[in-house]
Amino acid sequence: MDHVTGLRCRECGRQFPAEALHVCDYCFGPLEVDYDYRGIAAVVSRGRIAEGPRSIWRYRDLLPVDDDAPVDLGAGFTPLVRADRLAAELGLGELWIKDDTANPTGSFKDRVVSVALTKARQLGFKVAACASTGNLANSVAAHAARAGMTSVVLIPHDLETAKVTMTAVYGGTVVSVEGTYDDVNRLCAELTSERPTWAFVNVNIRTYYAEGSKTLAFEVAEQLGWEAPDHVVVPIASGSQLTKVAKGFAELGEVGLLDRRPSVRISGAQAAGCSPVATAFAEGADAIRPVKPSTIAKSLAIGNPADGWYALSAIRDSGGGCAAVTDDEIRAGIRLLARTEGIFAETAGGVTIATLAKLAASGVVRRDERVVALVTGHGLKTVEALSPGTGPTVTIAPTLSAFDEAVTVVDDLGGSEDRGATPPPA
Ligand SMILES: *Cc1c(COP(=O)(O)O)cnc(C)c1O
Ligand SMILES: [Zn+2]
Repeated sequence: MDHVTGLRCRECGRQFPAEALHVCDYCFGPLEVDYDYRGIAAVVSRGRIAEGPRSIWRYRDLLPVDDDAPVDLGAGFTPLVRADRLAAELGLGELWIKDDTANPTGSFKDRVVSVALTKARQLGFKVAACASTGNLANSVAAHAARAGMTSVVLIPHDLETAKVTMTAVYGGTVVSVEGTYDDVNRLCAELTSERPTWAFVNVNIRTYYAEGSKTLAFEVAEQLGWEAPDHVVVPIASGSQLTKVAKGFAELGEVGLLDRRPSVRISGAQAAGCSPVATAFAEGADAIRPVKPSTIAKSLAIGNPADGWYALSAIRDSGGGCAAVTDDEIRAGIRLLARTEGIFAETAGGVTIATLAKLAASGVVRRDERVVALVTGHGLKTVEALSPGTGPTVTIAPTLSAFDEAVTVVDDLGGSEDRGATPPPA
């Protein structure tokens, strides 16, 4: 643990020991993990990382917990897919999709939870708890089961069926709360003072939890052959992921894994039904105004984002943009990604792709940039967002004539008259 020097207040800079602390006693600012970057630079190398596991734990030198046996289901090291067909549709040049649908419980949350529960266990906690918009609940319940810890997760009552099932199956306690995520989160903050022996991953362990998101930046750089992209598009719920992606790229420069300090533009993506950060960006505002969410992108439906201000600052500092998209645009984004690249994303992924399309159309994301879009959750989690409206093309009787009558498929050969003369592919 000597690569972590302690915790530091993001606002007043006061230092604290690396314990289960999340706010500054003096100014109530959020705490941030501080590292000994010179010490890390002396040991870390591309080679050492390449020899590590194919998971987030290959970057353990830059994570806030050192454990030979982390709480691990294999989160991270997900595919980075070159997306030429999607790029062509959006008028972009070099576009990549970071496919975090491939994580163990189907979302990027496995990155943060693996880090959080490893740290929680090390600090002696036996109960893992959280407030969740769905994906965090899935991941906490699964990782707690893996670690032999007890889990208690609190969710808003109106979550997608799959997200509830994918949480309950692991055998923990699932508390459905009649309220919004922001109500659930407030309740969790109150519970944290009542239950000091529980690790609330996004409250008293949040400082550590949030660090897991840096691995997205680390992986993107490594998978691009240790080069930084020019522009990354990141969905925003609490704003933590976006803030930490920026920190991750900066750290790679700091410890010499990238040749120079990279300058990566970071753009934020939100749903119009819950867009406090995009609204503040559009208005040039100095504060985030909380909203009451109403969107199919439930995993991003945080009306009062804890790291919203820091995300906004990271976007502005990097020269990126921020935009919001409607529910119809989200559905179209899901379909577009699936149709062009064969990746089925949940509504948050639809938000990212639709926002990317919008930013590309307005020239914020440019054709001459190497662009990465973060697709953070699997489509099976939110199938109801597409149904009805996504189903069989036709329904027919089981006969050849019914098929011939109902089905016309134009194939890649252009449907020309002499198609019958073309031999089928070997
Ligand atoms: C939680 C979540 C995010 C982003 O969360 P932040 O709170 O902004 O870190 C993005 N996508 C999905 C699918 C999520 O579940
Ligand atoms: Zn402070």
